[in-house]
Amino acid sequence: HHVQLSPEKLVQALCQADDVDAQMSQLVQLFELSESERRLRHLLVTLFQEVFSEFFPGCAILPFGSSVNGFDIHGCDLDLFLDLEKTKTFQASAKGPQGAQAEEGAGPDSDSEDSILSDIDLTTATVPEVLELVAAVLRKCVPGVHNVQVVHSARRPVVKFCHKDSGLLGDISINNRLALCNTRFLQLCTEADERVRPLVYALRYWAKQQALAGNPFGGGPLLNNYALTLLVLFFLQTRSPPALPTLAQLRELTGDKDQAIVDGWDCSFPQDVSQLEPSANTESLCSLLAEFFRVFGDHDFAGCVISLQEGRALPLPSFLLSEVGAKLKLGPFNVQDPFELSHNVAANVNEKIAQRFQHCCRDGAKYCRSLQYQRKSSKGKAWGLVRLFQPGVPEAGELGPDGLLITIPFMLMALSPGSRQQLCQARDFRRCWFDKVCAAITFVLKDVLKCSCMGPAGEPLGQEPTEQNGGEQPRSDERGSLAVSPAKKRPRVEGPAPEEEESVSWSCAVWHRVWMGRRRVRRQLRHLGSPQPDTEQEAGSLEVEEKVSEAIIQQEGDSLGAEPLLRFTACARVGGGQEDTRTLLYFTPAPQQGPLFQDFYHFLQGFLPRMVERYVGRAAWGRQ
Ligand code: ATP
Ligand code: MG
Repeated sequence: HHVQLSPEKLVQALCQADDVDAQMSQLVQLFELSESERRLRHLLVTLFQEVFSEFFPGCAILPFGSSVNGFDIHGCDLDLFLDLEKTKTFQASAKGPQGAQAEEGAGPDSDSEDSILSDIDLTTATVPEVLELVAAVLRKCVPGVHNVQVVHSARRPVVKFCHKDSGLLGDISINNRLALCNTRFLQLCTEADERVRPLVYALRYWAKQQALAGNPFGGGPLLNNYALTLLVLFFLQTRSPPALPTLAQLRELTGDKDQAIVDGWDCSFPQDVSQLEPSANTESLCSLLAEFFRVFGDHDFAGCVISLQEGRALPLPSFLLSEVGAKLKLGPFNVQDPFELSHNVAANVNEKIAQRFQHCCRDGAKYCRSLQYQRKSSKGKAWGLVRLFQPGVPEAGELGPDGLLITIPFMLMALSPGSRQQLCQARDFRRCWFDKVCAAITFVLKDVLKCSCMGPAGEPLGQEPTEQNGGEQPRSDERGSLAVSPAKKRPRVEGPAPEEEESVSWSCAVWHRVWMGRRRVRRQLRHLGSPQPDTEQEAGSLEVEEKVSEAIIQQEGDSLGAEPLLRFTACARVGGGQEDTRTLLYFTPAPQQGPLFQDFYHFLQGFLPRMVERYVGRAAWGRQ
């Protein structure tokens, strides 16, 4: 079981490297699966193979995706393909031409196979039917696995499961043979050039930090890791001289035994990397990364289709006339699958994200031209990759209807619209307002909801809210464990910073289900305690809510595990427009805590703005 790498450790390790190339290699070492993590995955695959073979004779369980494609990171999911081709043949032959042999053929020692295979005819069964069967086998016969669930809605329906001891999450799919091919293709690319892994790891992490990729719940408008990886491979194909061959070139090199057609698509490429010609490209990792940003900062994503098959961007007009072009779903971001040519792997990306991707690339390119990127800081400042990895926050609306964004409105009830407008235009006022909201968020997360909060850089938060109301001001004692992300510290010396740079982040852990049953606890508390019906004391005040959390924690008992229930980062920033004083609070859950985090987030959507309003209203301006 692996503990996630903390952002502090990452920053520390990267700052100590000698140059950007070393930082990028370091990144792979920090993120990749350890030997023991790999062993566990291998053992699980073996266990699954054994169990499934009992029920589906001749089947094969084959891992694909990030566990095996060369881009693994700690805790990445385990994607499995259950190959039932041989089982189908077996079943068909057992039944004989008219199915007449079925009854007589059943020997006493093939009882278990028959009992489950006689329930279903694999050649005619639908995917959901087979998946339900797979789920039943998992539930009943695989020890140490729980939370088994069939997800029918995905583009590729899967059975999800969780390995209890390690917390490892996995998917089993049955109609996804192409994924085995593209997994092997990615693997081959990592074997062909040792720069591929560091570059992809760096860009995956960058994109995650910028909230451009890696949607925690799957779906949504963000780029997925597979699409982003293809984009990097395409970039390497288009260098001069090329750092990777195109698929068309690879096909030329393919021997007879490696010829493959899968689901009607030509998936031929050499399986053995020694059949590839070594690349003549000698660019450094440092310059490749900078070039990636430069190239895609100006790329017309909507106007063409990125083709790894040909290693060039295909202009839309002519592409649309082709047979596959007519079927491919176009969008603002078009990346053609290397094998399934009518599939746009980035079809889910929306306009806003596509634009922001471009914008972030331009920012990246600009930063990469600076000495701060190219040279190690002698004064211990963030340099190289570190600054590139400082989190960005998406705009409101970019995240789609399911986005994890809470907007805290600006509220000054006592002001006329005119003076309100005037105030909002004053920079200092907006800054002061933002600081108060941030202090309030800290208070609500730490004191009211009892989360533990840490900043990514481990730096203490500089701003204490001003105490104007004497003892009225709620206090947060362990303020030292809250921090501001270093990117977002305002450069006080150089004068006013651009507004977008103002943001504050929190790294939080939730140890108790403080979002559940609050109303009931609130009622109980009212019966037990304070008889005074003071409005300030009634349910919903900060103090009462603090007590409610305490009561829930007490009721839950000391079931405190070594690991929190949830981990997430919250990042607050001022809304975009000139007079926009809303605070946007963007949430990124740690990977793979889906449903539980969603519950918590839905609760926060209602709770947090209300509590912030109470805190700010009282601490800063008093109740009027
Ligand atoms: P990670 O799990 O770390 O995000 P991954 O490569 O395993 O990386 P998954 O989303 O788990 O990504 O997908 C597993 C595999 O499924 C991919 O490697 C790819 O083979 C296939 N796949 C994923 N998304 C797509 C897509 N949009 N189009 C086609 N194939 C996809
Ligand atoms: Mg995966």
